[in-house]
Amino acid sequence: MALIVQKYGGTSIAGPERIKKVARRIIETKKRGNKVVIVVSAPGDTTDKLTETARQITPSPTDREMDMLLATGEQMSIALLAMAIHALGEEAVSLTGGQGGIVTDETFSNAKIRKIDTKKIEKELSKDRIVIVAGFQGITAKKDITTLGRGGSDLTAVALASVLKADQCEVYTDVAGVYTADPRIVPDARKIDRISYDEMLELASLGAQVMVPRSIQVANRFGVDIHVRSSFNDEEGTVITKEVSKMEGVVVSGVAYDKDLVKVAITDVPDRPGIAAKIFGALGAGKVNVDMIIQSSAQGGVNDISFTVNRGDLNKVLDIMGKVKQEIGAKGLVYDEGVAKVSIVGVGMKTHSGVASKMFSALAEEDVNIEMISTSEIKISCVIKEKDTEKAVRAIHRKFALAKTPRKGRK
Ligand code: ADP
Ligand code: ASP
Ligand code: MG
Repeated sequence: MALIVQKYGGTSIAGPERIKKVARRIIETKKRGNKVVIVVSAPGDTTDKLTETARQITPSPTDREMDMLLATGEQMSIALLAMAIHALGEEAVSLTGGQGGIVTDETFSNAKIRKIDTKKIEKELSKDRIVIVAGFQGITAKKDITTLGRGGSDLTAVALASVLKADQCEVYTDVAGVYTADPRIVPDARKIDRISYDEMLELASLGAQVMVPRSIQVANRFGVDIHVRSSFNDEEGTVITKEVSKMEGVVVSGVAYDKDLVKVAITDVPDRPGIAAKIFGALGAGKVNVDMIIQSSAQGGVNDISFTVNRGDLNKVLDIMGKVKQEIGAKGLVYDEGVAKVSIVGVGMKTHSGVASKMFSALAEEDVNIEMISTSEIKISCVIKEKDTEKAVRAIHRKFALAKTPRKGRK
């Protein structure tokens, strides 16, 4: 008897009809002779709505109460799904993250899973029940409810699949798999049959929302294959796995974009040793994640240093930089919220040249200005104006002929 972990995202269980449909799919899986553990997200945009309600009460809710609030979204889903399964005559039991044995550290809103005690899940499975666990949440050793960061139900599913030694881990979402670009903005994006953990981790980290990056790290560490597929049909989706044999010549696997960033620049910075260490040391101490950094060449003994951070960190960064600016005797501090990052990812880049110039010319042909560039072995990213994002993603996708039916001669 195989053990299957299935995760259903927010859109898949938005509303009673979809919940009933998911319940039928789960029962079919069980009737094929499998043990089934289900992980669910909050319905639709519940998490956003709960966040908004909290903000209407106070601009600075405590992290503990925020997690207490957000965890209710998933709790709604587990109860409703269990009821839907009962109504179809099958046995199911709903468990919060804590009841499911998911113990985390105390970093509210971005907790790390410390251990998973699977006793209760296993006991329920042995009673022949479908076990439904709330995604995105856990409990600390001191019994406080925590959440794992936005999109965290993917992580719950992969972590459970790993500790339960599941035979399959299926992630059901509103698209049929992982595509060469977000199908919402590139209609002719192609579904990828198999993708390596490394490429998926890069795509996810660079903005492809379909899987949360931490879930891919865990999958890679524990060797969990993830099958991403649609909850609306039976199409085969994308398998995220270790080994991927590629057709020769596939250099770029996908294009990603991220609008959740802001560019900050500190200007007229004295050009002497120790300045960068001071700026980025202060940001590090404030737990701010800095992404790209550019330092202009010095003129007249001063230069400019620009960097990007997550939009949510902007106020903190301005506070920190205000102080650092005084200390180091820099003159200006400016920021631009109207930027975005577009990236290409592919392990084939390690062995091919000319990839960067091809990406830059795709942008140039569309008159998109590049403000910052960063590269690694398997990715190239450019910061551009946010208003150009869709146009840029489509142009790059076309340039690398990633579409379903690449047309010959098309640039
Ligand atoms: P869920 O609620 O099921 O977790 P998400 O909204 O988190 O779903 O993720 C699915 C969405 O990810 C899709 O609707 C799609 O628009 C977006 N997406 C972005 N990049 C990609 C990509 N490369 N492949 C597939 N989906 C992508
Ligand atoms: N409901 C949470 C969120 O919206 C977790 C998830 O969907 O995975 O971020
Ligand atoms: Mg998601």
